[in-house]
Amino acid sequence: MLTVALTGGIGSGKSVAGKFFADLGALVVDSDELSREVIDRGTKGFDEVVTTFGDEILSAGAIDRKKLAQIVFSDDAKRRKLENIIHPRVREAFEAIVAKAKAGDIVINQIPLLVETSGGSRFNKIIAITSSIEARRSRLKERGMSDFEIEERMKSQVSESERLKIADYVLSNDGTKDELLNQVEKIFEQLRIDASKN
Ligand code: ADP
Repeated sequence: MLTVALTGGIGSGKSVAGKFFADLGALVVDSDELSREVIDRGTKGFDEVVTTFGDEILSAGAIDRKKLAQIVFSDDAKRRKLENIIHPRVREAFEAIVAKAKAGDIVINQIPLLVETSGGSRFNKIIAITSSIEARRSRLKERGMSDFEIEERMKSQVSESERLKIADYVLSNDGTKDELLNQVEKIFEQLRIDASKN
């Protein structure tokens, strides 16, 4: 079994690449999705977030992620508080998935904040996905994010060069989705070889 991190800034194409890897047979886990699940209603994470940030972050009894984002992306101390609630739980949830994986599985974790959380050492291999700021910005705008939201999120993430330093493999996503798929296929072949040695 091989554990692989797929990391990149917001809008770099992690979800698209993750889907391609899943189509090829990898077990793909999205940390963004886990980070929502660990604060779902009824979880300890939910209780902790509400205790920390107050009832005003609720909408119809559930955590309103937009409201929460507005609070934490403009206040570093609050952002760290939220991360301290969410990150350990996301790691735990990922470890539980890994514990259930089979011997030959390639488990890929789409994870935006790998460098920021010094999480690289938890994985056998790291893939960084890069894309120009302009391409990322225009894709995110198409997805409905405002300039302000994009800037705030980008500010809280490290630069591309920091990610490249820790990467075993690099996906360059400045072309078409087909061009990305070609690279994903090549890297997946390599990961199969890595997995067989592991
Ligand atoms: P991330 O998960 O890293 O935030 P996504 O994979 O969601 O990024 O990509 C952001 C947006 O850009 C999505 O709407 C996606 O469909 C689009 N996108 C990603 N890569 C490409 C590409 N090579 N060409 C065109 N659109 C792309």
